Amino acid sequence: MPDSAPEVVVRIGSHAEKDYILKLARYFDGLIVGANLFEATPAATASLLYAVKAKDTKVYLDPMTYAFGAYVDPKTKFVRTDLDWIKSEQAVKDNKGKKKTVRDFKRSYRQLSEAIGSPLTGAVDEGRAILPETMVSKREKSEFCRRTSEYQLNRIGSEFEKDEQLKQFLQFAPKPAATFAPYFYVEPTYTSEWLKFNLELMRISAELKLGHPTHGILCADISHLKDAAIRKHILAEIPKTGVDGIWLWFSGFFENTAEESTLVGYRDLVQGLALKMEVHAMHGGFLSLALSKYGMRGVSHGVGYGEQKDVVPVIGQSTPTVRYYLPPVAQRLGVPDIERSFDAMGINTPNDFHEKICDCPVCKGVVAESLRSFSSFGEMHRSRPEAKRLSQTPSAAKRCRFHFLLSRIKERDFLRASSIDDIVKALEEASSTWGDQPTLKSSATHLTRWSSVIKAE
Ligand SMILES: [Zn+2]
Repeated sequence: MPDSAPEVVVRIGSHAEKDYILKLARYFDGLIVGANLFEATPAATASLLYAVKAKDTKVYLDPMTYAFGAYVDPKTKFVRTDLDWIKSEQAVKDNKGKKKTVRDFKRSYRQLSEAIGSPLTGAVDEGRAILPETMVSKREKSEFCRRTSEYQLNRIGSEFEKDEQLKQFLQFAPKPAATFAPYFYVEPTYTSEWLKFNLELMRISAELKLGHPTHGILCADISHLKDAAIRKHILAEIPKTGVDGIWLWFSGFFENTAEESTLVGYRDLVQGLALKMEVHAMHGGFLSLALSKYGMRGVSHGVGYGEQKDVVPVIGQSTPTVRYYLPPVAQRLGVPDIERSFDAMGINTPNDFHEKICDCPVCKGVVAESLRSFSSFGEMHRSRPEAKRLSQTPSAAKRCRFHFLLSRIKERDFLRASSIDDIVKALEEASSTWGDQPTLKSSATHLTRWSSVIKAE
């Protein structure tokens, strides 16, 4: 059974997250940046990458080509090929100088399409998604794969060259640890065509032999993960493409709510692929990290969310509260729900808290004098005087995020040092203690599923 030391790769979602990245990057194994974010703010992103560059911190540039493919509208559930989700309302002046609002491609995606070229530019010009049948000739596909790889290898350095201040550090410009083949969402109504197309893009990219590891991204759907025949197909076909690594992303897959059979399928897929290549979870949590015992090489996720991610996010939702990540349960929970279980869990002093919940520097700082100060992780306010609802204060959200990231580092270190038995024991213990608390019970049912998946009996 392959057992690898799991790596944690943090995904930078926006420049608002700069603080977390600058402070903690050296404790993580890698950073991944979406090419759309890079194109939105190239100089700022390049200098951020330079600032966090540590000897062993890996860097990845996600080419985000799936954004130019078909997607399922999260509201209507219909398949859309109009690329609308990468557009936004923009103020422009008409030829008489009058201001008006038009819906057009976001600048970042337009720039990305220009940087990679065809077929992305064609998709933007026509306002139509790339489909498996868009590119017919092998030459077109090869060109696309070559430019996508070259983009990742050279884009950061080219920004260093352009920028007066960064220019002098050109030789230190980070290079990605691996380049990703272009990829598209395996939209479930057209599964076999999309799969074939993605596998072909992986194979052609691997054949380029750029002297750099080539990885594929399997961006599929939860229904594919649940389907034994599709899992078998993926397991057989991905290794044939010759890629050195694969990043798994199943839209709609939630580690904590998925049924046990789905989790077993996921584990078997990881284990099978890991015999042939590096396997990573594109948006994973504790369970994916624990599957390092079955060969999972690494897990990536955002600074506060993103342990699971749908291919197309629902737009217009209000900013959710950042809940407190309860380390023994490996789950984000509401602060009052956690507080209500303190008594039964024998947590009466800050010391008890640090012993039984978390002793990271943030928690030591917040829960210092009194256990009551734990509530500041859930501190609420009116963001504007006229706001109808209370929302979490930015500093409470920040505390929750820092604590989460520090917990993740601890989890990684725990998993590296533990056997399967140790992990199972920790999960079972958490289930019979925390999982038995009335306010937490319904959010802790994953613990028993996870332990049996990891136990593999
Ligand atoms: Zn903590």
